[in-house]
Formats: sequence, C-alpha cells, structure tokens
Amino acid sequence: MNVAHELAPTRAQLEKLARPLGFVPTMGALHAGHLRLVEVARRECKSVAVSLFVNPMQFGPQEDYERYPRDFEADSALLAQAGVDLLFAPESTTMYPPDFSTFVDVGKLGTRFEGAARPTHFRGVATVVAKLLHVVEPDVLYLGQKDAQQTAVLTRLVRDLNFTTRVQIVETVREADGLALSSRNAYLSVQERAAATTLYAALQMMLKEIRAGRSVEEAREAAVRVLSSQARLEYLNLVDAQTFSRLQTLRPPAFLIGAARFGRTRLLDNLWIRE
Ligand code: AMP
Repeated sequence: MNVAHELAPTRAQLEKLARPLGFVPTMGALHAGHLRLVEVARRECKSVAVSLFVNPMQFGPQEDYERYPRDFEADSALLAQAGVDLLFAPESTTMYPPDFSTFVDVGKLGTRFEGAARPTHFRGVATVVAKLLHVVEPDVLYLGQKDAQQTAVLTRLVRDLNFTTRVQIVETVREADGLALSSRNAYLSVQERAAATTLYAALQMMLKEIRAGRSVEEAREAAVRVLSSQARLEYLNLVDAQTFSRLQTLRPPAFLIGAARFGRTRLLDNLWIRE
C-alpha cells in the first residue's frame, strides 16, 4: 500500500488553495459547534479545509467507536453550504496501514482527567492530529473550547514538535438551555437530556462561589448540590489552562472542568477563565 500515492489528489487540491489556510479537524456528525469553527476559520483565513475522520486510535476498547454517529452525506452537504474549500475524509487504512506503529506520546498532560478516564485517548488524538497537520499543512488550526484538555494537549504538541501552524481556540456553542453541543448528545434519552443541563449549571455555580471568595473545595460542594441526582459525577475541578494541574486559587488562564455520566453517556463541559 502506498499512502503517499493515495494522498496525492488531496495534496494537489491543497496546493491550489489560497493562504492563509484554516483547518478544522472533526469526527463528523456535524452540529452548530463544528460549524462555528468553520465560520471563524472562514472569517480569518482565505481558505478552509475540514477533515472528517472517526479516529479509531482515540477510542478505548470498551468505548463507542462502532456506534459513534456517522452521516457522511449530511456532513458533506453542511460543509459545502458553509463554504468549505476542501473536505478530507480519508479511509481508515489510509491513516493506519496494517503495520502502523508510530505514536505521539503527550506525557503527563495526557494522563490527567480525560487521560485518567481514557488511558490511550490523548495518544490517539495527538497521533492523528500530527498526521493531519502533515497532510494539510495549515496556517491556523481551529479547536473547540468544548474539549478543553484537548486544546492544551494539541497546543503543546504544535510547540513541542515544531509545527508552524497557529492554534486558535473557539468558544463552546450551547443549546438555549446551556447544554454544550456534542455529537454524543444524540445518545441521551429525554430524561437524560433534561438532567444533562445541570453539568453546565454546576460549573457556573462553582465559578460564582470561587469568585465570591469560597475555597475551591467549598465551591465544589455547592456545585455538586446543583447537579441532577441522575448524574454520575466523574470530576469537577479548577485547573491551569496549560498544564491541567489543579489550582487551589483562581489563577487565569484556567479552566473549570467537569465530566459526568448520564445513563451510558459520558459528557464533558468546562468554563474558560481567561482573566
Ligand atoms: P469532534 O468531532 O467531537 O472531534 O470535534 C471536532 C472539533 O469541534 C473539536 O475541536 C471540538 O472541540 C469542536 N467542538 C465540538 N463541540 C463543540 C461545541 N459545542 N462548540 C464549539 N466547538 C465544538
């Protein structure tokens, strides 16, 4: 199998695109959150490329790789409508030939919080994004705040591996009731969907209490009381935005991060405290 040969048409198309080129990596099942990244990229760059690839490397063995929502037709129509210049939707075998064995290890940052819950997740994310950056060679990489730890991991990857792309983080897009848009919201039952809004409410409560001078622990207790009894909380913490180490006092840039299960569905949310 010759991967360079398989990628040749994409490379030829990319060479024709006007610079600066913005790049939005996605796993498809597109919603208004993904489209916001495209919109910001369109505003700031002369061309926009989007990748659509459900990356098997970032899913654990017991996770939802098989049932992750996929709708290529709908996604490509949305992207065409949004004025995307290039859609890169590689086959799994193009990205991972059968004897693939080279990974990007992100170190300690990839072992905390999401990395503790999903031990091989960030290795998979970092590996696929490094590969995508090599193929696309964008000027700007657009990432959603929604996946806060991913923004820290990928900002570090770009610096550590000397990619010349700039990283731009785009604020989380939410439903009217505050629930962060996510492709995984499709898994929620009506009751779980109603309970899921309390994750954002808990984060807001925690920030309010911290700003009012309470300790992180006291603020956390107040936040937990806001959470639905249906939620199984995994973590709720104040962390440094770059290292994801815990903070005992508010020292921006920081994230208040939360993860909880609603039924079988694990949801993430965060507040970004820039100053
Ligand atoms: P995914 O398809 O889940 O891998 O997400 C692709 C990109 O879209 C990532 O950079 C996500 O952080 C971003 N994203 C996902 N949900 C949202 C949202 N609600 N608002 C803004 N960006 C998002």
